[in-house]
Amino acid sequence: MKSVGYFVLLFVFGLVGCSENKTSTLRGPVHLSADVTVHQLSAQEKSPFLSRKIQLDQNTSCEDRIAKMVCLSKNTQADFDRDCEFGHVPAGVIQKLQKIMEELPPVHRKVFCHLDRIQLHQNIFSIGYATQVQDEWGMPAGYMFGMREDVLNGSGKDYFSWKEQLNFGLSDPHDDKARVSPEGPTVQVEMNSANPTLLYVMTHELSHIVDMLNGADNIDYDKCQTSPVHNYWKDCPVPSTAFNSISWGPHMTVIDDSQDVDWNHAEMPDNKYFWSASHPLYAKFCFYFCGGKTLPPNDVQASYQELQNSTFLTSYSTSSPMEDFAEASALWALGDSGRDLGIVVKDKAGIALFDSRQQMLNPELQSKLKWLHEFYNRGNLKTDAAVN
Ligand SMILES: [Zn+2]
Repeated sequence: MKSVGYFVLLFVFGLVGCSENKTSTLRGPVHLSADVTVHQLSAQEKSPFLSRKIQLDQNTSCEDRIAKMVCLSKNTQADFDRDCEFGHVPAGVIQKLQKIMEELPPVHRKVFCHLDRIQLHQNIFSIGYATQVQDEWGMPAGYMFGMREDVLNGSGKDYFSWKEQLNFGLSDPHDDKARVSPEGPTVQVEMNSANPTLLYVMTHELSHIVDMLNGADNIDYDKCQTSPVHNYWKDCPVPSTAFNSISWGPHMTVIDDSQDVDWNHAEMPDNKYFWSASHPLYAKFCFYFCGGKTLPPNDVQASYQELQNSTFLTSYSTSSPMEDFAEASALWALGDSGRDLGIVVKDKAGIALFDSRQQMLNPELQSKLKWLHEFYNRGNLKTDAAVN
């Protein structure tokens, strides 16, 4: 699997399409973030994909569409699966998706009701993921998301605590039982919903699609300083109107991940983010991609204290601009629709170390919340791949 990092921004670049030369580096499957991928349809995949798309478009009811777009995948890769099986999904699973659709915030519901497919996996490395499906020219042909089937069915596995503990080496990224250490932090998703975890996961993944459709994150690649090293662009300006300018500063270094970067030898700046020096602990949060470089468990408390003094709404927001948008967007939109979502991190004694609801009151975060408010109230947001 390709590593993840700054190359997330390549994706934004792909969407805005600056030059043929750079967009051509986007060949799927490319991992744009821990849970965002691009899949370019092969010649064999294109025809079944498009004929299903036409079938779906003839359905006006979202409920009918959900029943037709969900499939079961044996693939352990977070990516479009050409062998995903339609037609064998238990009725209870379809009903659950139809029910949760009603709880989604308005824009997310529209995006959900225009998806091309939902892949349910028995096992993937992340909890869920979002994918842009591209045609042979690299243009968006549709959107889908995938997730673990047991997130939908309620396995009792504590995926959020497991994911959080990966940063401290207390849980194992390859453990399909997602076991959690009693020594580590735990995460609770608190929400005014019958199924808070599922609603949060879906709103997060759909937020990635909202971002991909509307270019919430952006970067001006034409004005990057050319790097002497082939696999990254240095000091690329971030437009001041873009969401990522709020927490990631006016310039970013962008790794080109499309060429199997050798991360052990890639020339990486020591301070990879402009906030790394002032927030050295959470700058080391790594989630699925720690490569043995985890934070010591002794740093748990100090890490979340540091996070409280940041412009990030959750720990996962720190992993990339796209995750920052997906997390903030889910929190804002679910909050705005009266769900009162709180992501609460507790220490091993059960004492709260971090609560996203408290974080939302942080004065430094108000510009981010205002940005989201204005974005979601624009009225002209794209909700599917069709040209509006
Ligand atoms: Zn994500």
